[in-house]
Amino acid sequence: MMQTPLLIGPMMEHAEQFFARKEVISQTHDKLRRLTYAEIGQRTRRLMSALSQLGVQKGDRVGTLAWNHHRHLEIYFAAPGMGAVLHTINIRLTPEHIIYIINHAEDQILFIDEDILPLIEKVQDKLQTVKAFVVMTDKDELPESNLAPLHSYETLLQTGDPEQPFKTDIDENDPAGMCYTSATTGKPKGVVYSHRGIVLHSYTLGLADTAAISESDVSMPVVPQFHVNAWGTPFACTWFGSTQVMPGPRFTPKRLAQFIERFKVTITAGVPTIWLGVLRELEQGEYDTSSLRAVLCGGSAAPRGLIQAFEQKLGVPFAHAYGATETTPLVTYSRLKSYQQDLSAEGKLDERAKQGALVPGLEMKVIGDDGEVAWNGEEMGELLLRGPWIASEYYEDDRSSSAFHDGWFHTGDVVTVDVEGNIQIIDRTKDLIKSGGEWISSVEIENAFMAHEAVFEASVVAMPDAEWQERPVACVVLHEGYHTEKDELLEFIRPQFAKWWMPDDVLFFDEIPKTSVGKFLKRELRERVKEHYKV
Ligand code: AMP
Repeated sequence: MMQTPLLIGPMMEHAEQFFARKEVISQTHDKLRRLTYAEIGQRTRRLMSALSQLGVQKGDRVGTLAWNHHRHLEIYFAAPGMGAVLHTINIRLTPEHIIYIINHAEDQILFIDEDILPLIEKVQDKLQTVKAFVVMTDKDELPESNLAPLHSYETLLQTGDPEQPFKTDIDENDPAGMCYTSATTGKPKGVVYSHRGIVLHSYTLGLADTAAISESDVSMPVVPQFHVNAWGTPFACTWFGSTQVMPGPRFTPKRLAQFIERFKVTITAGVPTIWLGVLRELEQGEYDTSSLRAVLCGGSAAPRGLIQAFEQKLGVPFAHAYGATETTPLVTYSRLKSYQQDLSAEGKLDERAKQGALVPGLEMKVIGDDGEVAWNGEEMGELLLRGPWIASEYYEDDRSSSAFHDGWFHTGDVVTVDVEGNIQIIDRTKDLIKSGGEWISSVEIENAFMAHEAVFEASVVAMPDAEWQERPVACVVLHEGYHTEKDELLEFIRPQFAKWWMPDDVLFFDEIPKTSVGKFLKRELRERVKEHYKV
């Protein structure tokens, strides 16, 4: 067979050739735009050419701080299409972490949505490698800003050659993209995606037994393009010629519901918190959602009740999937097998609320205290993964060896596997709390509490939450002879954290359960907290 490389540029070329009149419908700050793949392809080529003129070279990192819209999609193809590396930056991280990752990735250029400019203006003098900023706006004039040099995206595009070819002398193993994920403590960790990994992952999104993305789909990724490439959907949908609906900045459940009806969305993807909001909207309003064939839900466990409400009340098929930044991300997809169709409604729901079975192309192992666990739905162990779209290290980070060793990625997720091979996530070894799809470090909150003179020990655990899936609750032991109140402790730590990081409650305990080596036994503590709340 021929050894032709698996590259991202040709995916856009394919859309230009075979799906030229299919559309991307994009909500920006000011407008709703409709562009064909012929136009998107030409704009992508102009962007590659303009980036070259700005001095961007093979291997350089191109950062984005942006919502889901067509311009972001164009950078998704222009950066790797010219051999550079797309670095999507999570705008919800703290300014300190944003500075760190831009410097660590050595971004040469930053593409920024107009409403996100203030975030970067405040930290500009700390950015060590950025040579130019590009604002993505619909307005003709540049916004007032102290960023320099500052270009306007549309003006920049005008300077580019609409026939600029996609670069072909790229190795399929070369970096195409990167994304940082939160660590338990300290700075975020970078994951680099290769062209090959992204292309193979895109095929997987098209498989009939996963998301089955195809030309006939109208796809609306709600998961941000700064979260693992919107789960790879922009790449797959462009390649397969699906219509794409990009919901733009600061969308609301109402906008999502309206878009589903108006554009006859067939497949959409997001974290459970999004779907809880949309569910409320759909229940209150009169919307026609009959076009939907799949609502993909991942990033946190999809609550059984959410699946049930979407399917039984609204008749909207709901699909639960699992993955991580390190895995590009699709790893498992929950789907009933042909011979499970006669299960009771409850039985089907039980199965589908699991994270599902491994997609073809990957390998998994689940390691418990005594080696690999039996696939009996009972024994628990850590999920290990390997395959062509699983990272092999963190980018220039000496913390890599704790997660990547013996040829496997150690996910930190504790799972059971049933006889059908479906995994169910039971716990996680990493000390992080996932609230509404974003990570909160329990360790950092614990350290903040422990700086208070009255606090002897503090442990922060995740409690189940109907809206956010998990919320932090602090468990505190006071020094003997000291007294303090919940509110005083919360005020003490408040200046250090974003509002959504603040624990929902502080509970006082006489002691915190510990392992034989003195580590907090979080699972036991969580049970005690649940008992306290009677949940
Ligand atoms: P991230 O790297 O931010 O995408 O987070 C990945 C982590 O989110 C995984 O290691 C899991 O702990 C968690 N996660 C992702 N999808 C699911 C899911 N469907 N159910 C439960 N946890 C999930």
